[in-house]
Amino acid sequence: MIVKRLMVGLLAVLAVGALVFVWMLNTRVDLSAFDSLYAPRAEDGVSVQFFGTSSLLFADADTRIMIDGWFSRPSTVSILFGEIAPDLEAIDAGLARLGDRDVDALIPVHTHLDHAMDVAEVAKRTGALLVGSDSAANIGRGGGLPESQIRVVTDGDTLRFGDFTVTMIETGHFLSPNPLFRETDVLIEDTLSPPASGWAYRQGTVFSVLIEHPEGSALIHASPGLKEGAFADIDVDTLHLGIGGLASQTTDYQAALWREAVSLPKPEGLYLIHWDDFEHSPMSIDPGDPPGALNLFWDGVFGMKSKAGIEAVLTRAKAEGVHVALLPMWTPVDAFHVAGHSFGE
Ligand SMILES: [Zn+2]
Repeated sequence: MIVKRLMVGLLAVLAVGALVFVWMLNTRVDLSAFDSLYAPRAEDGVSVQFFGTSSLLFADADTRIMIDGWFSRPSTVSILFGEIAPDLEAIDAGLARLGDRDVDALIPVHTHLDHAMDVAEVAKRTGALLVGSDSAANIGRGGGLPESQIRVVTDGDTLRFGDFTVTMIETGHFLSPNPLFRETDVLIEDTLSPPASGWAYRQGTVFSVLIEHPEGSALIHASPGLKEGAFADIDVDTLHLGIGGLASQTTDYQAALWREAVSLPKPEGLYLIHWDDFEHSPMSIDPGDPPGALNLFWDGVFGMKSKAGIEAVLTRAKAEGVHVALLPMWTPVDAFHVAGHSFGE
């Protein structure tokens, strides 16, 4: 009798857990309070186009540099429990929306799936040189990218593409507050061929990317990780700051991140990235609209805490007179000058 009651109790707990999980997957954070923060479309000059998470396309008239290039959106269930592979239709449609021109360099900032799972297919289609860590190279090779299109880089390496100079700076990744998502083994040691488990896309070396051009400079720091002094010697016009997970760190950590990533490189303005949806195709969002918000699983259980992250940055930026803007989807905006904003008031 007692065993039967225990079984019924256990089943009830599992059923409630499953219902909560489904509810979390289907409920998104409300970020409409920040709708006034979106940057305006740029009519000329060097532009940057955002297409979700930290995928960015920098372009002048002759040269295009892509960060991450993630178009696929595998479901949370397939990431956690199944196998994933690049969504070729989404990649083709996304590249068409970005103008279907060649890309000179494709730079994944690290090799988690939301940055690097599409790199081989994107490089094959655009002719881009894949620039990244050994782990990124192994994703390229596993996807059939020829060695001539792969450049393994380390801290401090600088490459020229047209009028752009790209410098790779080794930095750190934010630590999820959830131990389930903390990696002890971070390298992709062998070629990685999809379909593969989402867990196979290990972090690899984490880079921040400095992009310099005669018209200005931008630093992409896509994960709010810390490496003391990494930006001590650089000065930039614009910082693309990834804030996913920032608000799940301590206030001391947040202050240190601000000091290292903002006070040292002294950007005139920040574009906030990597706080948005992991699940729905970026193609489902019209050009000019805000990106989709995260669901409560990724935002809460994984620890992205997008709303608190944006608020934390706005508070510090307002106190120090640093401009902050969000990037509308698929829209070219000024790569090096973040316009003044109302800080959400
Ligand atoms: Zn990551």
